[in-house]
Amino acid sequence: MTHWLYLPELASTGTAAVLVETEAAHAVRARRLRVGDVVCVFDGAGRTAAARISEVVKRPLEVHLTVEAQQHWAPPAARIHLASALPKGDRQTTMLDMVTQLGITDFTPVNFERSISRVSTGSQDRWRRVLIESCKQSQRSWMPLVHSSMDLGDWISDPTDDGVVNLVAHKEGESRNTVIEESLGGAKQVRLLVGPEGGFSESELARLDHTQATLVSLGEGVLRVEAAAVALTALVTRTLADSRIRSQPDKGSA
Ligand code: SAM
Repeated sequence: MTHWLYLPELASTGTAAVLVETEAAHAVRARRLRVGDVVCVFDGAGRTAAARISEVVKRPLEVHLTVEAQQHWAPPAARIHLASALPKGDRQTTMLDMVTQLGITDFTPVNFERSISRVSTGSQDRWRRVLIESCKQSQRSWMPLVHSSMDLGDWISDPTDDGVVNLVAHKEGESRNTVIEESLGGAKQVRLLVGPEGGFSESELARLDHTQATLVSLGEGVLRVEAAAVALTALVTRTLADSRIRSQPDKGSA
């Protein structure tokens, strides 16, 4: 398997590039890469390139690369925007790691009446590191965008254009796959909402009932925030992938 390394300045890089600090350490110490090894560098904005390690300088640590032709990948056909309550502590990074691997394109932390955790100083930097590692792991050339936190009211009143589908994780919601598949038909953007540990309040549920959102059940168990976020994202990415395959012309038919 080709190792992926993050090179945010790839667009302006010619045939030579140097990795320093975290990325250099990741390449040499964690991945044990050596001169002559070929890696894939990516910038998180759709650009990738094959690159060969030409030199490793020990102090300060630097990994020199010879970069080959770049490729620019189209953004995902449908944006998947996860808006979620923040789980506590390390479970935030677990959630972001997994939903990034699954293919979200955007993340917004949402404050609810019963929210316990809020965005803290350093969250953005910590999350960014997680997103980079998850993109490497899942070989995703587009890194999710992290937006500022918002209140539920802002999420509800966000202008929704044609092609925007809203799905809300709720244990008593819809569980028939056919209904969820139908609601995702032709979606250009899917907005996912996951509530806090204490659940949605009655008034929040009443407000959500008046939006053009489908409440989706993810099974009978009460899931933690991050489990619900991962399950809902997996349901959506799988359903979208399946509908794209089915909408392709059958090459075998006359
Ligand atoms: N005591 C809360 C309640 O009963 O609503 C539990 C909230 S749960 C820990 C956190 C969030 O995960 C919920 O607000 C909901 O969005 C989502 N969730 C949990 N279990 C779910 C399920 N089985 N189906 C769909 N969403 C679920």
